[in-house]
Amino acid sequence: MSHAKLIQGYEVVIGFETHAQLSTASKIFSRASTAFGAEPNTQACAVDLALPGTLPVMNRGAVERAIQLGLALGSTIAPTSIFARKNYFYPDLPKGYQISQFEIPVVQGGEVGFLLGEEKRTVRLVRAHLEEDAGKSVHEGFIGQSGIDLNRAGTPLLEIVTEPDMRSTEEAVAYAKELHKIVTWIGICDGNMQEGSFRCDANVSVRKPGAPLGIRREIKNLNSFKFMQQAIDFEIRWQIEQIEDGHAIEQATVLFDPDTGETRAMRTKEDAADYRYFPDPDLPPLVISADWIERVRAGMPELPRLMAARFVADYGLPEYDATTLTQSKTMAAFFEATARVCGNAKLASNWIMGEVSRRANALDLGFDALPITSGQLAQLIGRIGDGTISNNAGKQVFEALWNSENADVDAIIEAKGLKQMNDSGALEKIVDDVLAANPKSVEEFRAGKDKAFNALVGQVMKASRGKANPAQVNDVLRAKLG
Ligand code: ADP
Ligand code: MG
Repeated sequence: MSHAKLIQGYEVVIGFETHAQLSTASKIFSRASTAFGAEPNTQACAVDLALPGTLPVMNRGAVERAIQLGLALGSTIAPTSIFARKNYFYPDLPKGYQISQFEIPVVQGGEVGFLLGEEKRTVRLVRAHLEEDAGKSVHEGFIGQSGIDLNRAGTPLLEIVTEPDMRSTEEAVAYAKELHKIVTWIGICDGNMQEGSFRCDANVSVRKPGAPLGIRREIKNLNSFKFMQQAIDFEIRWQIEQIEDGHAIEQATVLFDPDTGETRAMRTKEDAADYRYFPDPDLPPLVISADWIERVRAGMPELPRLMAARFVADYGLPEYDATTLTQSKTMAAFFEATARVCGNAKLASNWIMGEVSRRANALDLGFDALPITSGQLAQLIGRIGDGTISNNAGKQVFEALWNSENADVDAIIEAKGLKQMNDSGALEKIVDDVLAANPKSVEEFRAGKDKAFNALVGQVMKASRGKANPAQVNDVLRAKLG
């Protein structure tokens, strides 16, 4: 935290509140479906509508997902937590209150660790609490009035709150990406930001180094990493400008407008006291036994950080490779399958972080939807490793694999005539010819010019039409010149 870079002499302070929609099939307190995109008001039952006489019933699956997050982030799982009513009036909230957790949340403490460039960073969590989502106002298709769609009412959310630990936009975005990776990795949230399954509120303030925390403004509902970066950058510049101009920052809730790239105050910020929180009399305390926690733990997948550590230990990969390969579960699985078959983890890592990622990203493909299998990649790497083809020829084979179905690596090598020359007699003949034809380079080399050697290697490669094995060319040339 002490290495924070300053902007015009100001230190930036950021804390995040993230709403992760939990991937349960039904709502947090009712049996209505949570599926996205249904016709308005077809998935809101009597409980979601808060009709008189209905009672909420806690969805076990939502609790289990909260426990999973807590275990993944080293948090404390509260043995007993309390649901509270957060009272406010809004047309998309027919009950007049949102069921949330206030004084005692289910998940307490914990941290998110990630790499920011080369630097290890840790953001501490305050808490994560369970709550229900509200409905939505619909403006499209209405003139002079608004529609209300209550399908989203009662959708389970986990609100994940950090300490104000972040010191730059880059760090904030890296935190959000890491948290996104974790919730999708453990499968508690589908992570679809466009559909609102993972939305972040960024609390931003600035201060002179060493000064107490500045007044924050909260940017609501950032639903893409790009907007997040733009919004926070704009907000920082705006706040510094205000202060430099002699204006005090006023605590406020602001919205980011992607069209103008600006943040705009929506309302002055409410205090907790405004919401008149009180324990919900309809719901008993949420009690979580140690047994239950252990059962949830037993069903959890290997976490990305532990998997990365294992990649370093078991495959001898650099930490950078291990971290990159564990960006997603599908990428990690693709790597392991490839490495196991080809037996060369570093080459597998290079190919997957390089060529494979580049093409997958260009097409926005996940590693579970690639037009190449780990088996094919492993076979290709094997052929480079055993000297059958050069690394460059490997790229051509890769291209062919990518663009066809069920292609066979050896058949492609054969059909394209990509085999390296491994016949040392033929290579020696070429080297002899090249030396005879380039007496000047030979002389220069003998006079101590290394460049001349490279020129000769190039000539031999050319004469072999790229099929000579560069390492072998080196050896033969040195032997003949030496
Ligand atoms: P509220 O519940 O009213 O939104 P909290 O105190 O719970 O307020 O804080 C909400 C978020 O704002 C947290 O993520 C916290 O880290 C962050 N935060 C609090 N103070 C500041 C500040 N001065 N600058 C930036 N972020 C802050
Ligand atoms: Mg808040």
